[in-house]
Amino acid sequence: MSFAETLKCLECGKEYPLDEIIYNCGSCGSKGLFHGTVDVVYNLEEAKEKIDKSVLESRHPSVWKYFELLPILDDSKIVSLGEGGTPLVKCDGYARETKSKSLYMKNEFVNPTLSFKDRVFTVNISKAVEYGVNTIVMASSGNAATAASAYCAKAGLKCYIFIPSEASLSKITNIIVNGAKTVKIKGTVVNAAVLAVEASWKWGWYQLTTAKALSPYQGEGSKTIAYEICEQLGWNAPDWVFVPMGGGDNIGGIWKGFKEFQELGLIDTLPRMVGVQAEGAATIVNTFNQGKDYTEAPMEDAKTIAEGIRAGVCPGPWPLMALRESKGIGVAVSDKEILEAEKMLAKTEGIFCEPSSAAAAAGFKKLREQGKIDGKDIAVCVLTGAGLKDIEAAMKLVEEPPEIEPKITELEKLVK
Ligand SMILES: [Zn+2]
Repeated sequence: MSFAETLKCLECGKEYPLDEIIYNCGSCGSKGLFHGTVDVVYNLEEAKEKIDKSVLESRHPSVWKYFELLPILDDSKIVSLGEGGTPLVKCDGYARETKSKSLYMKNEFVNPTLSFKDRVFTVNISKAVEYGVNTIVMASSGNAATAASAYCAKAGLKCYIFIPSEASLSKITNIIVNGAKTVKIKGTVVNAAVLAVEASWKWGWYQLTTAKALSPYQGEGSKTIAYEICEQLGWNAPDWVFVPMGGGDNIGGIWKGFKEFQELGLIDTLPRMVGVQAEGAATIVNTFNQGKDYTEAPMEDAKTIAEGIRAGVCPGPWPLMALRESKGIGVAVSDKEILEAEKMLAKTEGIFCEPSSAAAAAGFKKLREQGKIDGKDIAVCVLTGAGLKDIEAAMKLVEEPPEIEPKITELEKLVK
């Protein structure tokens, strides 16, 4: 049984029932796009009586081992592809390169569609089935759409995906293969998101664009990343958690997970959160550093090789809460730093992630160099998606291999 109690507006505190479809707060949402973010509230006092370390340890690693802390009220509606339970890998090679001692990578790209978004969409699509909807619509730069299309295929739901024109071919292919009706939208992912909202009004489709301000369940799957990290560190939180930020749902969700585990008495301390963005699309970092809650207008020219974090907008207070409440840091890294980190992770750890993920590792390296992170601190970087998701970017890191006749004399010239 879920201990989810209600939906609550982060701005005015107004509550909404869990069994009705709402996207944002009716009162605050009229102030503008991305206003009126609504979050799921749980009865953690009651949950505390049912959940303890031994109960959780006895369950198989998975997003759904934490079902009491997720918002699905009817367990028979859960749509799962076997997501979660991803490894936390100690990375001594990358740690040496950054003169640190306790560095871990949370490898989220071993999820079913190769990114953390599977956690998000096992929850979203289960909720859609619980609501009894038959069609969903969303805008996405790639990984979210891939996950959405896969979970819709599994659940037998119709799926409309609006994708920015510049999304990588490997992601688009995966979405179409899964049977989603895919439309390329000119402009930014924000333009596509607005169109998804309008389509939802017009045809009654369930709108699932992954911005917390547009859809209340977006942080719920992500918070299981925090739960798992704590369990994997022997029921301890690390000192620092590095998360790449596009629209920032992920960092907000992960932070919520740590707070809930502390309230449940499962961990003693909380980590400090570091949100990492690309310099060409550092909207949340800039908004945080300016002490504001919203960007005045989305960037029309957000640019970075890391397409998963090219949102160019700070969609409300959700990601900022993580940074502010945890006394965290927002940091921007260049495309060069991102690609260097991607290459270094592959060479020192055998971990091949996409540029959006490598941004987290690049952010760690940068803050180590600036002396903002102590080398002895325990740090975790969340690697959100696989390198094979974006072959076009990875090709910038490598050279074509030489081709020779199958003769040992030819090989000898190369070995020299
Ligand atoms: Zn409100």
